[in-house]
Amino acid sequence: MEISNTSINEIIMAKYGEIALKGQNKRTFEDILVRNVKKAFTGLGKFKYERMQSTLYITPESQETDLEQAIVCLSRVFGLGAIQKCAVLPKDFDRIVEQGMPYLESTLKHAKTFKVEAKRSDKTFPMNTPVIQRELGGAVLEAYPHLQVDVHNPDVVVLLEIRDKGAYLNLQRLPGAGGIPVGSSGAGLLLLSGGHDSPVAAYMIAKRGVRIDAVHFHSPPYTSERALMKVESLCRQLKDYLVNIRLHIVEFAEVQEAIRNNCPEEYSTLILRRCMVKAANILCSKKLETGNNIYKALITGESLGQVASQTLSAIGCTDNAAELPVLRPLIGMDKTEIVSIARKIGTFDISSEPYEDCCTVFTPKHPKTNPKLQDVELIESRFDYEGLILKSIENMKISDFA
Ligand code: ATP
Ligand code: MG
Repeated sequence: MEISNTSINEIIMAKYGEIALKGQNKRTFEDILVRNVKKAFTGLGKFKYERMQSTLYITPESQETDLEQAIVCLSRVFGLGAIQKCAVLPKDFDRIVEQGMPYLESTLKHAKTFKVEAKRSDKTFPMNTPVIQRELGGAVLEAYPHLQVDVHNPDVVVLLEIRDKGAYLNLQRLPGAGGIPVGSSGAGLLLLSGGHDSPVAAYMIAKRGVRIDAVHFHSPPYTSERALMKVESLCRQLKDYLVNIRLHIVEFAEVQEAIRNNCPEEYSTLILRRCMVKAANILCSKKLETGNNIYKALITGESLGQVASQTLSAIGCTDNAAELPVLRPLIGMDKTEIVSIARKIGTFDISSEPYEDCCTVFTPKHPKTNPKLQDVELIESRFDYEGLILKSIENMKISDFA
């Protein structure tokens, strides 16, 4: 069979996830979603965007556009339930068959079995769903006689959707990233270390629509430039999911030295963590010049019982230092579950690099697992940490990943 599909108009249908269920404020969510999709497509060429039937129809405006690459970028945009590359066909069954069969050739010629799924949201289309499925199945068998129908476990699913503006034929239905669009739930400040946990925490909270900036504490000369570069790599990797991310880099060596010199060793990790939270409070209370970001929560990668500073008592003491809600999306997760997400989002290899974190310098041999807040406050009252924390924030550096 001599066939060519050069005249087929291919688009991407990006179907909403939860946004489809929104009521009056659906438009606001859609606006943010479209803005994020446009950002994700930076450098990929020009596209036309249309919203109908809880779907974003994305049409490339040039022949050379790499739709596969666009789909990869789209798969990291929160708010989408499914992504489908499809051929746009006229709503006329004979023409669907005439133009659609060549379009399917490259996939169907390698398959042994197939099934047809049809959806008809345009009820004015003269054939009902079972009839469309039967007739299209027949047409596929006629064009590709080597195929057999298998409704349970087919090699290929041929999906035809009859919608308001056209008929859409496709073979590729990929899951979207889920969640709601980044920016629809306000902004939060992530405490980002170089480990596996906090990048995964960022991913999970961004999935619920929070725009995320980060603060990282490092302690040169005790920690190296490489350790900082690792955190910057994490930001670069997370950016595709987070849309953009501002990293605040805060030097904490003086705070850590003061803790070492003034606190009982077993309390040092907890007091360091409380100092980090207090620094984050200051950052959140500042209306930063460039930002219209008002952070409404802190985000950490803490997981209950993972280490001594993450027992219920220790988390209670850390929480007490915070002036905003602290979101801990990993609190009930095992390391294996966290690591599997880290692999999926591409942060695992970066976090596995061996460079030291400021928490690993001056680590106590026997950290207190059952600290009492009044003891912690008494220890802290013997030294003025606030001045050092304030100074560290005043001298912080900022990097933007957009
Ligand atoms: P992670 O695996 O994310 O590094 P962790 O296993 O090292 O965490 P902790 O050291 O107890 O666990 O840190 C708990 C949380 O405190 C981290 O998930 C992160 O949110 C925050 N945190 C730890 N170290 C830093 C740091 N240097 N800068 C910013 N936040 C930090
Ligand atoms: Mg951890």
